[in-house]
Amino acid sequence: NREIHLASRPQGWPTADNFRLVSTEVPTPGPGQIVVRNQYMSVDPYMRGRMNDVKSYVPPFQLDAPLDGGALGEVVASEAEGFTPGDTVLHGLGWREYALVDAKGARKVDPSLAPVSAYLSVLGMTGLTAYAGLLDVAAMKPGETVFVSGAAGAVGSMVGQIAKLRGAARVVGSAGSAAKVERLKALGFDAAFDYHDGPVYEQLKAAAPDGVDVYFDNVGGEHLEAAIGAMNPHGRAAICGMIAQYNSTEPPAAPRNLALVIGKRLTLRGFLVGDHGHLRDQFVQEMAGWLRDGKLSYDETVVDGIEKAPEAFLGLLRGENLGKMLVRV
Ligand code: NDP
Repeated sequence: NREIHLASRPQGWPTADNFRLVSTEVPTPGPGQIVVRNQYMSVDPYMRGRMNDVKSYVPPFQLDAPLDGGALGEVVASEAEGFTPGDTVLHGLGWREYALVDAKGARKVDPSLAPVSAYLSVLGMTGLTAYAGLLDVAAMKPGETVFVSGAAGAVGSMVGQIAKLRGAARVVGSAGSAAKVERLKALGFDAAFDYHDGPVYEQLKAAAPDGVDVYFDNVGGEHLEAAIGAMNPHGRAAICGMIAQYNSTEPPAAPRNLALVIGKRLTLRGFLVGDHGHLRDQFVQEMAGWLRDGKLSYDETVVDGIEKAPEAFLGLLRGENLGKMLVRV
């Protein structure tokens, strides 16, 4: 059994030296436990925050101990009622080949509904984040104009497509390369731009000349400032993430125009996907239906091998992923 430990806490951008590959025994289950051979594990931006030794909504990773996070695999041994070898389960102990999981922390998934990796992407946490953030938190209504940053990523690519499927009049996305911009147009975005090509505000005004009603923020900083500037009165922003500042050691320079929130009577609302579990059944049903009907596409960037998990994580922060970044264990 090989697993990835946190060897040191990154200052600013993480590097390969912050991680260590460690070999251990394959665990055996105690009462109420199962052993899962992981097939896929997720790397996510929030994991960067957990590498800092600070109190947050999830506890920090411990030094010289395995990292953890969303993973999916096959039960190979079970001492827990309701789980038998061969079951495919979703759980929270990624970053290792074999996971010893308390059965209450595992959920069986239906491998006949979609390729199993989908439970870590379109039908999983990032899909639900998009669905809940757009429809519940920002309360998008048909006929509105939606802007989403980080639009070619796991969450953003779903936000744009769900917005169109739920009747948005215009959907605009921003992403970090020309290839990603092309992909967004193929996914049905009405307009998309590369934020490296010029000031975000100017590109956004050109892409959404009638203004923005709903902003789904994955990036923060200059993107949030541009969105505040472009938003229509009574617009709503779902503040999902601020990846532009996760590796910075300085406080952000933007938004500088926060006072506009007053005159425009904007709502900026932060949220955590974990508070929206009540939407899960509705979400899976609606998303699986769209997938079945060919109305929804999803991208996954898959890196092979547990030893490559740190590289996959670093690549995610650098924008090397299209759609969900996953590791095939
Ligand atoms: P993504 O698949 O979107 O991957 C991260 C992407 O961020 C990269 O591909 C990169 O794309 C982009 N990026 C990196 N640095 C910058 C930068 N400085 N400026 C602009 N874009 C940048 O990740 P997820 O879909 O998993 O997550 C998206 C966001 O949602 C994150 O902020 C994350 O923290 C947040 N999140 C929040 C949750 C919640 O409950 N609130 C739950 C899940 C995610 P590019 O090439 O376009 O730069």
